[in-house]
Amino acid sequence: MSRVNEMFGSMVFNDATMREKLPKETYKALKKTIQNGKVLDPAIASSVASAMKDWALERGATHYTHWFQPMTGVTAEKHDGFIAPTDDGGAIMEFSGKELIKGEPDASSFPSGGLRATFEARGYTAWDPTSYAFIKDGTLCIPTAFCSYGGEALDKKTPLLRSIEAINKQAMRVLKLFGNEDVKNVVTTVGAEQEYFLVDRKYFDQRNDLIYCGRTLFGAMPPKGQELDDHYFGSIKTRVKAYMRDLDDELWKLGILAKTEHNEAAPAQHELAPIYTSTNIATDHNQLTMEIMKRVAERHGMVCLLHEKPFEGINGSGKHNNWSISTDTGVNLLEPGKLPHENAQFITFLCAVIKAVDDYQDMLRISAASAGNDHRLGANEAPPAIISMFLGDELTEILEAIEGGVDYEGADKRELEIGVHVLPHFPQDTTDRNRTSPFAFTGNKFEFRMVGSSMSISGPNIVLNTAIAESLKKFADELEGKENFTAALNKLIKRTIREHKRIIFNGNGYDDAWVKEAEKRGLQNLRTTPDALPEFINPKNIKLFTEHKVFTEAEMHSRYEIHLENYCKVMGIEANTMVSMAKKYIFPSVTAYIKDLSNTVNELKSAVPNANCKAETELIVTLSKLLNAMFEDNNKLEEFSLAATKISELQERANYYRDNVIPYMAKVRASADELELITAKKYWPMPTYGDLIYKV
Ligand code: ADP
Ligand code: MG
Repeated sequence: MSRVNEMFGSMVFNDATMREKLPKETYKALKKTIQNGKVLDPAIASSVASAMKDWALERGATHYTHWFQPMTGVTAEKHDGFIAPTDDGGAIMEFSGKELIKGEPDASSFPSGGLRATFEARGYTAWDPTSYAFIKDGTLCIPTAFCSYGGEALDKKTPLLRSIEAINKQAMRVLKLFGNEDVKNVVTTVGAEQEYFLVDRKYFDQRNDLIYCGRTLFGAMPPKGQELDDHYFGSIKTRVKAYMRDLDDELWKLGILAKTEHNEAAPAQHELAPIYTSTNIATDHNQLTMEIMKRVAERHGMVCLLHEKPFEGINGSGKHNNWSISTDTGVNLLEPGKLPHENAQFITFLCAVIKAVDDYQDMLRISAASAGNDHRLGANEAPPAIISMFLGDELTEILEAIEGGVDYEGADKRELEIGVHVLPHFPQDTTDRNRTSPFAFTGNKFEFRMVGSSMSISGPNIVLNTAIAESLKKFADELEGKENFTAALNKLIKRTIREHKRIIFNGNGYDDAWVKEAEKRGLQNLRTTPDALPEFINPKNIKLFTEHKVFTEAEMHSRYEIHLENYCKVMGIEANTMVSMAKKYIFPSVTAYIKDLSNTVNELKSAVPNANCKAETELIVTLSKLLNAMFEDNNKLEEFSLAATKISELQERANYYRDNVIPYMAKVRASADELELITAKKYWPMPTYGDLIYKV
């Protein structure tokens, strides 16, 4: 066995391990539970728990934890020892079925958006047997959902599981209409490409902005940025290579299929792409990947930055959420087929996605909205805040031909009728490579590129699954029971294309002309997080999620509140960090430099009475002008940031940060960055962009 084979999944209680370790009957019953989503029999749970414990102990684990994903966006765990006392004063290692299935963490320290009444602070975690348990740092981690005692979701996993169920149900209805009798189950699949930066720990430690905010609040561009385009796919530095190797090992042990790793466009920026898997597992894996990226960086004397925009003036980091939908019989429903009926099915699912993206632009936008991602969307190399879809010229022409019932050149001038004609084959590589589209068809999947690098992919996938489930539901409602299925389908497809083609845009999404064009088409442009968030509780969206039982109305209101609160907190921390860095570091350094320059002038003048000291004097004047401006703006920033905290209504507070605090942060930064460029290096109080992005 190769090293990789031996290592891969060695810390995962996966299917192969279960088959080996569980009694046959237990294994079968568990599989059934996993496949049908049935409740687990307590006797089976005991048997699974016991086998899981033995397996974990063999691998050196001493503790177990219910691993969950609260609304903080990161994962949470509370460790319990396997150890239990015996009557004779000794100890044994114990883990019961009850402990496997359910945990009771105190929910009061996690965001609940007002869902959890204070008299009922307890929450509970429930095992999600569709995601395998694993060992991390000597602890057996059991993936769980996290709910309040009233049953409301307090996490990112519960609604994701519900959305997976919703799309399965509706897709099955549509597949039945196409005569797929052998399909039992439909799953969505995701591969999440993850971008990140690596910086040297010793520089990181000298910057409070990186420590507290995860991004730089100050910093002038070095003479060389990314303009030479020499970093993307460039050769990887030895130190970074060692990091990536180590990272792969750790991820492989956890059964995470990390596959390609390369340099990204910006200096010090890199990307990791995994092989896709089911959405639930992909989401767990992405959370783990982010955690392990950070941990492994520490071992290499580096810090991994997952923030969406750690540095101004160079590319930010995103997460490309590759999404598709396939059957348990192995058919990717977004893969164009070769036979007429396969093509009809493909076009139907494609149209379901088109309709969903158009109808729920706002929800997709929200799923990628955060204070951090606001710096990225619409900026250099990031897709704009407007949702549109890239299909490529060929596929777009095909849709136009179907809609108009006209000839399609590529199809021997035949009229394209769905379910009757074979679609012309279009080569896959013409379908990709529009990097400016937020939502691109890439041959057999869609790539949603707006998601921020630090975000959980749960939110975007909840929206995709549910919105597409809704399209499929509408389709099934209309088509079921129709005598002439092909005619009804043709009508439906034509209408869907006509009504939703405004969302298709194959041009340059970074172009200003697109903003105007999108407005003409009636597409939404929700520029910032406070602009986007109110749509979360738009009745149309509440209807969508409650009808498909993904969120209750109360859960939606609570999530709206949590997102607003998070935005305000991030803004508050950033403003305060900036104010204090200005006062404690930048002002003292610049004044020290001015003092030295002034002393020089005085000494020169006393030594050489006629000396004009032009350079020194001009420098002093410029420095003190900038310092004054920065001082005034910093005072204003402090004042506004304090005023924001006094606003009790959350939406209003978020708007206030957007309108008053952010502009002053920009002003303070502009003066500081100019000061940095003319202050002698030995006075400047923190590592520069040059240090951070080139000295890894
Ligand atoms: P490209 O680089 O051309 O976009 P790749 O095949 O390299 O395409 O895939 C990019 C990402 O998309 C990978 O993370 C991959 O696992 C994922 N991916 C590929 N096929 C699917 C699919 N059917 N469903 C979800 N993700 C997929
Ligand atoms: Mg990609």
